[in-house]
Amino acid sequence: MSSHPDSVSATLFVVATPIGNLSDLTERARKVLESVDLIACEDTRHTQKLLQHLGLRKPLISVHDHNERDRIEQISEQLSQGRNVALVSDAGTPLISDPGYPLVQALTEAGHKVAPVPGVSAIITALSAAGLPTDRFLFEGFLPHKRSGRLERMQAVAQETATLVFYESKHRILDSLADMAEVFGTERPMVVARELTKTFESFYRGSVNEVIEQVSANADDQKGEFVVMVAGNPAPVTASEVDFERLFKLLLKELPPKKAAAVLSELTGQSKKELYQQALDWKDPV
Ligand code: SAM
Repeated sequence: MSSHPDSVSATLFVVATPIGNLSDLTERARKVLESVDLIACEDTRHTQKLLQHLGLRKPLISVHDHNERDRIEQISEQLSQGRNVALVSDAGTPLISDPGYPLVQALTEAGHKVAPVPGVSAIITALSAAGLPTDRFLFEGFLPHKRSGRLERMQAVAQETATLVFYESKHRILDSLADMAEVFGTERPMVVARELTKTFESFYRGSVNEVIEQVSANADDQKGEFVVMVAGNPAPVTASEVDFERLFKLLLKELPPKKAAAVLSELTGQSKKELYQQALDWKDPV
């Protein structure tokens, strides 16, 4: 196994930092932070604390959702002048529900060297101890704050067979869990991971209903940071089953029942006669 050379040409190092337990910073991350000329970070005060813990002093510049585009040029300039830069976020892996994507995209496109310095991410940390299938998972990040948007997002993945992973904050954890019961059903297996790697790390496991009970039981269980994981749908309904009735009704708005039945029969292979009868039943419900 040969190591990646960390000092060949000017590089943007994308450095993962701990999500709670400072001992989770890798040795390589510490060395890279020590060696770079500049650290681009989400919140300078937050990163300053990490650097203090490591006994390091480094120039910092903030890169967040509101100034990321302007920073691209500055960081590109630094790299062009041969200076190494590290990108960190407040916690975990940059770009994972954190700033950095426009920067990394622009720098790679411009031909700059971008290298990952891997470490912790809350998704993988949570999945590794949840006890849900991990062979396939779909990371959905944060759900929308508004209920209508949240329900829409959940409905879009309700048929998914892979394990679903969401990030959630203390402000919306109970509301999101209640919406999950509505969209995914109360019996779907799920796991909520709270305060991973920190003092009050907890896992709530069971059906959606059982987990809601556990998290609702005590106000302390609703504090901190959460990763919500839901088992994939064990019996997904196929798109054609879902859309069948809607499609037929739309056709019936435009075409006479016989023609609509013929078109649908052609599409689905179902009996033209039965479809025609169905159309008549809808027209004259008993
Ligand atoms: N970049 C980070 C990563 O790699 O996981 C994620 C940053 S995102 C802004 C913060 C969210 O990640 C939190 O709201 C929570 O959903 C999840 N998270 C971060 N740290 C966590 C922890 N220690 N325990 C549980 N969830 C955590």
